This record gives sequence, C-alpha cells and structure tokens, in this order.
Amino acid sequence: MAGEPQPDCLFCKIVSGEIPATIVRETDTTVAFRDINPQAPTHVLVIPRVHHPDAASLAAAEPQILADVVREAGQVAADEKVDGTGYRVVFNTGAGAGQTVFHAHAHVLAGRGLQWPPG
Ligand code: IMP
Repeated sequence: MAGEPQPDCLFCKIVSGEIPATIVRETDTTVAFRDINPQAPTHVLVIPRVHHPDAASLAAAEPQILADVVREAGQVAADEKVDGTGYRVVFNTGAGAGQTVFHAHAHVLAGRGLQWPPG
C-alpha cells in the first residue's frame, strides 16, 4: 500500500533505525541525515518517513508531507548557517536523472559555489 515501509528500501531502514545514519533533524513526518558520499560541504538528505518512490509520487499522495520535506530543507540550511550564500534543493527523479534510491528525498547542498546549469 502506498506510504507503507518497503522491506528492501534503504531509506525505510534509516527511518526505522535498522541502518545507522548521521541524523541532523527529525520531525513527526521527516528525517534529515548527512549523505554518505557528500558532494558539497553541506550535503544533507531530507526524507519523508512514509515510503513513496519519488517526490512527485509523494506530492500526489501526501502533499502536506512534501511541504514538510521542503520546509525541513530550509531548516537544515538555517542550522548549517548557509542562508547568506544560499543552498540548492535537488529531487533527482528517475534513474536517467541520477536517482539511485527510490524513496523520495531532497538533497540539500551548500557551502561551495553551485554551478548553473547543473551537470
Ligand atoms: P539519489 O542518487 O538522488 O537517489 O540519492 C541517493 C543518495 O543517497 C546518494 O547521494 C547517496 O550517496 C546517498 N546514500 C546512499 N546510501 C546512504 C546511506 O546509507 N546513508 C546516507 N546516504 C546514503
């Protein structure tokens, strides 16, 4: 059923605590933790506790929780004190766009110059 934990999902296992992560923020609906392979000085993933395969699926099923994810991305940036230089929120969607974990997540990237267009 949509939103239910998936037994083979890495991020569901981080939500449950089965796999450890460096958690920086938690709410009733979200968990934020440091990316294991950081691409910038600040690289935090914000995920919903519920399982949906990507951000658009989350938006369709539980739009308030997508809003929670985006708000938490801003809170991560504030905690990391990157507000002055800005930050980027990325939702890779689909394997062709670089998505490797099919549990919706926002990348929060900051702390270095971020190029546009992205690679
Ligand atoms: P995607 O490529 O947009 O799906 O992002 C998945 C991200 O999860 C990648 O940036 C990985 O480095 C990150 N990642 C994979 N496994 C772990 C983990 O166990 N802890 C934290 N981050 C992870």
